[in-house]
Amino acid sequence: MKNYLLLFALFSTLIPFESKAQSNFCGTKLEEKDLSNLRSFQRNLDSGSFKKKAGITYVPIQFHILGNSSGVGYYKLETLLYTLCELNKDFTSTGFYFFMAGLPEYINDNELYRGDIDAVYQKVEDFKMPGVVNVFFQGTGNQWCGVYFPDVDVVFVLNRCQQTGSTTLTHELGHFFGLPHTFYGWEGGSDPGISFTEKLDGSNCRDAGDGFCDTKADYVSNRWDCPLSYNLKDPTGQFFKPDSSIYMSYSSDACQSRFSEEQMAAMNNDLTNRGFGINALNRDTLKAPTPVFPLPADSNLNPKSIRFAWNAVPGAWAYYIQVARFGSWEFTNFETLVTDTFVDCSTLYGNWPYSYRLKAIHQGNACGDFSEPIEFTTRELATGNQEIRINSTLGVYPNPVAAGNAFQVISQIPGVVQLFDSKGALLVERNLEAGIPFQFKPESNGIYIGKFESQDGVQVFRVLVDSTL
Ligand SMILES: [Zn+2]
Repeated sequence: MKNYLLLFALFSTLIPFESKAQSNFCGTKLEEKDLSNLRSFQRNLDSGSFKKKAGITYVPIQFHILGNSSGVGYYKLETLLYTLCELNKDFTSTGFYFFMAGLPEYINDNELYRGDIDAVYQKVEDFKMPGVVNVFFQGTGNQWCGVYFPDVDVVFVLNRCQQTGSTTLTHELGHFFGLPHTFYGWEGGSDPGISFTEKLDGSNCRDAGDGFCDTKADYVSNRWDCPLSYNLKDPTGQFFKPDSSIYMSYSSDACQSRFSEEQMAAMNNDLTNRGFGINALNRDTLKAPTPVFPLPADSNLNPKSIRFAWNAVPGAWAYYIQVARFGSWEFTNFETLVTDTFVDCSTLYGNWPYSYRLKAIHQGNACGDFSEPIEFTTRELATGNQEIRINSTLGVYPNPVAAGNAFQVISQIPGVVQLFDSKGALLVERNLEAGIPFQFKPESNGIYIGKFESQDGVQVFRVLVDSTL
């Protein structure tokens, strides 16, 4: 009974907490000092007569993925790539096209991870990339779903608030490029007073609310589902509901679909002032890479030491790989973005079927297809040929190799490789250049011994040629 009471007490404190978090959808507090450029732009903006910028501006964006001090709680990379695709869809009409300035940066910091504001002001400059949009994904915190800090010019987004169908990042980037809320002046439940209350007829649209004349009056500073369940009343006594389609309102994500023409013009003006867009970028969708190792026949791989390898895709900037038990992609055991055509993984475990799949990406296009998943199995063995097949610089694959097939030896540092048969007779000796694979096709089944000599010393490996594979 005591436990039930305790549980009840816990829930009754949690519930108001949650609803508070809901109302703090966005933590951005823009003040007039932050809006001075926008205000001068708006003064020159004769509604409808501005020149819409032609063409696309490619905008560099740097993602920072925060973990706690143990490196736990990262925003999932697959979701990040999806988010970039969705962001570019949301921004299509603006003429903005975002591309990754660099690979996502990982930062383990308890304070930043929970969005501690003092820590943001003290630490964030150390991590910012200059001349780009900087977005930080945090794992926990209840102050906001997203926030733009004008003083340090960075965006923070809570991981759970930027998932499938979310518009949190789109909204915060609106702030980044100078846009206030459509309900500017009403934030946090405050009332801007009658003279700053935007009228429905547009007669004071430049001087009240967000200062845009093509966004409807809006006084709602809480999260709301569309259409608004009650009516608002403007200073002339007109009843109305606000426009739920605007990203800069607080309507729920599913209601939002656009920036207004004036908002887009203002964002383009802000981007021009910032001066960090470029005019050309290759953004073709790339085809998926072809896996080299493991292949579907590969079984009994050492889960603590697998070098995944694939063929280069012309024009690729990086490769995304994900590995999951039983191919359950929502629970990935391993995922990473790398610029090489291989990656070492030491974090799988047990005797399981795993699947992996690959994607080739450009800086501005991570929207291509995955390769067909490949299933392989692992086996944790104390001894066997798996544990010596690979170390940090040397890769031998496939291993075991099916009879009649070739295997490759590849090293990231130059050296000399020798292959011996099981009786110790030298079969071949070659100089290996860094990153260039050497292929060898064994003539019969059994164990082959390899020796690789480099600046790091001598490494010995065995290759099993197996007619049952
Ligand atoms: Zn906001």
